[in-house]
Amino acid sequence: MLPMASFDVVSPETVEDAVRALAAPGARLLAGGTDLLPTLKRRLTAPSRLVSLHRVAELREVRVDEEARMVRIGAGMTLARLIREPAVATRFPSLAHALGTVASPQIRNSATLGGNVHLDTRCRYVDQSAFWRESLGGCLKSDGDTCHVVPKGKRCVAALSADSVPVLVALGASLRLVSAEGERIVPLEEYYSSDGVRHIGAAPGELCTEVQVPMANGLRRTAYVKWRPRASIDFPLVSVALRFDLQDGEDGEGGGAIAAAHVVAGALAAKPRRIRIPEAVIGRRVDEAEVATMVADAAFAQCKPLPNLPYDPDYRRKLTRVLTRRAMANLLRPPAERPR
Ligand SMILES: Cc1cc2nc3c(=O)[nH]c(=O)nc-3n(C[C@H](O)[C@H](O)[C@H](O)COP(=O)(O)OP(=O)(O)OC[C@H]3O[C@@H](n4cnc5c(N)ncnc54)[C@H](O)[C@@H]3O)c2cc1C
Ligand code: SF4
Repeated sequence: MLPMASFDVVSPETVEDAVRALAAPGARLLAGGTDLLPTLKRRLTAPSRLVSLHRVAELREVRVDEEARMVRIGAGMTLARLIREPAVATRFPSLAHALGTVASPQIRNSATLGGNVHLDTRCRYVDQSAFWRESLGGCLKSDGDTCHVVPKGKRCVAALSADSVPVLVALGASLRLVSAEGERIVPLEEYYSSDGVRHIGAAPGELCTEVQVPMANGLRRTAYVKWRPRASIDFPLVSVALRFDLQDGEDGEGGGAIAAAHVVAGALAAKPRRIRIPEAVIGRRVDEAEVATMVADAAFAQCKPLPNLPYDPDYRRKLTRVLTRRAMANLLRPPAERPR
C-alpha cells in the first residue's frame, strides 16, 4: 500500500473556471487519473490542489470541422469512447487501433486523450516506490543529481510511452492550449523536448482543450504497431506509427504510388522520433517488398533504445525493424483484421 500526500480537489464545470483554478500555486490537472494517481503514490510529484476535468462537458466533444478540414477531439474524451467514435474509427483507423492497445478496458474507460498526450515519461529507475528510489540515491527526475541510464549524462532520458503520440505526430495533429493569457495552437511534433523531466511544452497554467487532427486530402494508408510483454495491459517498449499518402491508383483504393511517407517511433526517448525515409521510397508502391525493407532498415538505423525501460536495448532495437515490417504488412490489411 502506497499512501498519497494530502491535496485539495476542485471540480470546475467550464474551461474558464478550470483555467482559473489551475492558476493557483501547486495546482495540477486531473483527467482520468490513471497516470497521475500512480505518480502521486510513488511520490514523484506532490501537488497541493488537483483540478478535476471530470465535469467539464465541453472537453468531451468530437467535431468534424469540414471548413478547417480537421476533426476536433475534446481532450477529455475517454479512450474507450474515442475507439467507438465514427469520426475517429473511419477517418483515423491507426489512432483508433493505437487507443485500443492502451492498458486494459477498465483503464480505457477512465483514461482520456488529453491525459495520454500529457503522460509522464517512464524509466525503470523511477517507476518505483520512493523507498526503492532512495536506495539508489534518487536521480535527476527524483531528488537526485545523477542518471542511472546514462551515468555521465546531464539530462534525463526517460521515455514517452503514450500510444497515441506517434500516431498523432504521423497524422500531423496539433493541440489547442488555453490559459488566462489566451489560447494558442501547437503542432504536436513541436510540443515535446528531449528532457525527460520537462518533456512537455505547455506553459504554467495552460490547459489542453482539443486535439486537432487534419483530415486526409487524398488516399492514404496508416498503421500502428507496439511491442509489449503482456498484450493485455502493458505500455509499449517500442512502437511505430506509419502514414503513407498515395497518389490515385488503378484500383482506386490506395494502390497508387507513394507521394509522402511519415514514420514515427515511440517509447525510445522523451519525445517521439521521426524516421527519415530514403527518397527512393517516393513513387514506389506500399506493397513492394523492397519498400518495406527500406523503411524497416531506416527505422533500425535511426532507433537506438537506451536501458531506460525493461528488456535489453539491443533486443528492443532489433524489434524496431521487426515492428516496422509488421506495420508495413498491416498497411495492406483492413483495420479490423490487424493483430493487436
Ligand atoms: C496498468 C497501466 C497500464 C497502462 N498502459 C498504458 C499503455 O499501454 N499505453 C499508454 O499510452 N498509457 C498507458 N497507461 C497510462 C494511462 O492510463 C494513459 O496514458 C491515459 O491515457 C492517461 O490519461 P488520464 O486521463 O488517466 O490522465 P491523468 O492521469 O489524469 O493525467 C496524466 C497527465 O496529463 C495531465 N493532463 C490531463 N489532462 C490534461 C489536459 N486536458 N491538458 C493538459 N494536461 C492534462 C495531468 O495533469 C497529468 O500530468 C497505463 C496506465 C496503467 C495504470
Ligand atoms: S533516465 Fe536517468 S534521470 Fe531519467 S528517470 Fe531514468 S535514471 Fe532518472
